[in-house]
Amino acid sequence: MAFEGLTERLQNAIGKLRKKGKISETDVREVMREIRLALLEADVNFQVVKDFVKTVRTRAIGAEVLESLTPAQQIVKIVNDELTKVMGEEAVGLNKSEKIPTIIMMVGLQGAGKTTTLGKLALKLKNEKNARPLMIAGDIYRPAAIDQLEILGKSIEVPVFSMGTDVSPVEIVKKGLELAAEKKNDYVLIDTAGRLQIDELLMDELAQIKKLAQPNEILLTVDAMTGQNAVEVAKGFNEQLDVTGVVLTKLDGDTRGGAALSIRAVTGKPIKFIGQGEKMTDLDVFYPDRMSSRILG
Ligand code: GDP
Repeated sequence: MAFEGLTERLQNAIGKLRKKGKISETDVREVMREIRLALLEADVNFQVVKDFVKTVRTRAIGAEVLESLTPAQQIVKIVNDELTKVMGEEAVGLNKSEKIPTIIMMVGLQGAGKTTTLGKLALKLKNEKNARPLMIAGDIYRPAAIDQLEILGKSIEVPVFSMGTDVSPVEIVKKGLELAAEKKNDYVLIDTAGRLQIDELLMDELAQIKKLAQPNEILLTVDAMTGQNAVEVAKGFNEQLDVTGVVLTKLDGDTRGGAALSIRAVTGKPIKFIGQGEKMTDLDVFYPDRMSSRILG
């Protein structure tokens, strides 16, 4: 991941204050104008930028900064705090069912990285929690989606339940859950269909699967490289399905950072994981404070 543009612009804006001793309210307003532009250029949601700038400015023209002998440092701290808050403050873990299995339903648009992320998550659960997951191949529309999941399953040694493409996804999920009960799998990860864009048919199908499976977690995968579009997609899915969390994929290729900084504030739902590469081990828990420090450089 490289938010170089944003990092550089924030550092430049705040850096100008370093040469000064005490700063004035005008200095604060000037630096906030530059921070605002930097965030907008990084494709952060307009409303999020507006609220962020207002909060930081209010804190920064308070006595603690204006009377400080190290005002630039104080402002860095405030920006860091507020960036962390915008992204959700604390890392949020996976929901867990009281009795097995914990059911995780993965949703998202085609190409966002849904199937890959499902495999990554199964491997993570296996490695870190000693879990025995079962993956269900519920995407019957995308050519080769089932093959892809089966190949993934073999490579990470996690079983995959599939019934081909002639059976309805709801039926596949029902049978898959029966198998998981029989085999006492502690996690079930359901792959679902994606589309190029949100449409009613897709949402109906996902709603039916949700109703049947009663998942503990509905994780939405969105592609960080698509910026504000990812935020709109997240909003749309959340309105229809009330997702429980977001996985931001392809952060390794995202040069701006707009999605990472907007999704939590716009949808109210936490980013739980980030995908940072194509390998099966490239999935990490999302820590807002670490991300904020990385952005500030
Ligand atoms: P789906 O249609 O949503 O199931 O998408 P796939 O899982 O098939 O992923 C689409 C493409 O994105 C594949 O080539 C993946 O290897 C790639 N991909 C998924 N996640 C990441 C990621 O975090 N980083 C990178 N660089 N590529 C990813």
